[in-house]
Amino acid sequence: GAQKVKHNYQSDVARLRKIVIDSLYSHQEIFIRELISNANDALEKLRLTALTDKSVWNGEPLNITIKAVKDEDGKGGRLIISDTGIGMSPEELTTNLGTLAKSGTSDFLAKAEGQDNTGTGNLIGAFGLGFYSSFLVADRVYVASVPPKSEKVPSPVQYVFSSSADDASFEIFPDPRGNTIGRGTEITLHLKPDATEYLDTTKITELINKHSSYSSSFPIYLFTQRTEDVPDEDAVEEPAATTPVAEGEATESPVDSETPQKDEDEAIVEDVTADEEKKADEPAPPKMKSVVVDEWVQLNAQPPLWTRDPKNVTTEEYEQFYNAFFKDFTKPLAWHHFSGDSGSGVSFKAILYLPAKIAEDYWQQPLASKSKDIKLMVKRVFITSDLGDDGLPKWASWVKVVVDADDLPLNVSRETLQSNRFLKQLKGIIIKRLIQTFTKIAEEDAEKFKEIQETYGSIFKLGAVEDLKNRDKLTSLTRFTTTQRNETSLDQYLENKKKGQKQIFYLAEMGKKPEDLAQSIFVEKLHARGYEVLLLTEPLDEILVGNLRQWKNIPFQDVAKAGLKFGDEELDPEEEKEQQKALTEKFKPLLDWLKVEAKDVVRDVVISNRLVKSPCAIVAEMGGYTANVQKMMTASNA
Ligand code: ADP
Ligand code: MG
Repeated sequence: GAQKVKHNYQSDVARLRKIVIDSLYSHQEIFIRELISNANDALEKLRLTALTDKSVWNGEPLNITIKAVKDEDGKGGRLIISDTGIGMSPEELTTNLGTLAKSGTSDFLAKAEGQDNTGTGNLIGAFGLGFYSSFLVADRVYVASVPPKSEKVPSPVQYVFSSSADDASFEIFPDPRGNTIGRGTEITLHLKPDATEYLDTTKITELINKHSSYSSSFPIYLFTQRTEDVPDEDAVEEPAATTPVAEGEATESPVDSETPQKDEDEAIVEDVTADEEKKADEPAPPKMKSVVVDEWVQLNAQPPLWTRDPKNVTTEEYEQFYNAFFKDFTKPLAWHHFSGDSGSGVSFKAILYLPAKIAEDYWQQPLASKSKDIKLMVKRVFITSDLGDDGLPKWASWVKVVVDADDLPLNVSRETLQSNRFLKQLKGIIIKRLIQTFTKIAEEDAEKFKEIQETYGSIFKLGAVEDLKNRDKLTSLTRFTTTQRNETSLDQYLENKKKGQKQIFYLAEMGKKPEDLAQSIFVEKLHARGYEVLLLTEPLDEILVGNLRQWKNIPFQDVAKAGLKFGDEELDPEEEKEQQKALTEKFKPLLDWLKVEAKDVVRDVVISNRLVKSPCAIVAEMGGYTANVQKMMTASNA
């Protein structure tokens, strides 16, 4: 027979498979989502390859098929998931399924091994385990695959990858059946005894609806057999046959490669209407018989979610689409579904999503890092998620968007797209809609906006610093803790300002808690007099205030710096000057002494009216840096 080559799994794969098999039983069903997602990726890859190499695809329909085959004893069975996508050469079968190329997976391993099973379950949401999730439900898996015929490889050979759940190795061999697939991949799962529920077409339908339905731009067909009663024209002539014809007779796996088309063969099961007791005066009802009809039923017959009318899409559908399409299995915080016209005549439909979490390394990434999750489709066909130089600025780079353009030429390649006007416009459109989405929530849903602040509070500040064009709108979304409340916008601060107040007061010290800042001597007198002071504790706060300088024409004033002005001075300026002069004279000996004693530390010692309880304070010079910023400057120069 054909030569089988045995390979040991790369050690990480062995570890991953073990975790998957041992600890994720309660998440068995995700295998289907992962395999459909791979099939979808493979179809997309084929279509992209065909843009530059026409020989790989002649335009026939691309699809995914699922077929359940019960064993003859009725106990177990196989689930066969096929696609007509890019396929894999024997080398690719070895590397793609036998080694870990995924960057996220080693993180997963590190986390999963340190946790109990419940913890691992939650991790599934964050990672998506790919092909290895097959072993959740299968004790043996065959992957038969064949790359497309091309000018370079005119007659590719179909190979099989085979592995069992408890093998430390896998085998690669030419398929003894020859090339049965034509092009693509066929995955045969020999289901474990506790996973036979996945042979049930109702169950499969339910899972596809839940995990994959609106995310695949390719049709997913499920093989079903349905009994149907039809008039029995042959009833008189000959008795009905009684042997059901089973689909996919059990043979050595891998087996079965069918193209989805309505199967016209009808297997007669039984004659159910052989009515013995006909009444003489009634016309005889037509003789009926039950037949088994084989059918390929499309599971995702609904058009892609983004093309539907938002009025008819449920929250659950939006969430499930998000999970499947962006492979982020947490619930998005909010989304915005819209259509529009780019201004250069390209009309499009889009959904933008606000993820619940920003990537852990987001703040460590450089400002120039690019957005990765803008999926650009043209007429429902995925083109790219790399917008190159037209990607979003850092503050918005986390947003997840699907955009489907109507009028771009379908054969655009990535290179020509880069220079496309539409992309430049798209960037502006997404930013505008994104800000609108946030603003709407801020205005209409206080509770949701609280959640938004937790995830995006610092993002707004970054945006206000980074994005000059949208600075005002983004600044409006920022919130600060003050001496009077936990959260205020700058507009709310201004509404609350005292009569005559001409500055926005703040004290900044990064890394401190707002309640500590509230204790500061600089804040005392203002607070005692009823002024609200912003307590800024994030590095970005001070940078933002430094960039803004003013809000609605009211300048910011650091209460730790000179230049502080109250609006409600009880004394008239003349009187105050007099008083100041008298005090300065009275305390001259003290001031002179202090000036000498502290000459290495301070530039000057003066009588101040800004303190209530504390005897003295050291104040930065107007225009100089505060201690806080000085710290940052030295840190960045180091
Ligand atoms: P991921 O999809 O995140 O890359 P998977 O474990 O799901 O990780 O799949 C590993 C790799 O195996 C894929 O990147 C792809 O190269 C290959 N692969 C899996 N399924 C298919 C398929 N149906 N057709 C072609 N290649 C596939
Ligand atoms: Mg995958």
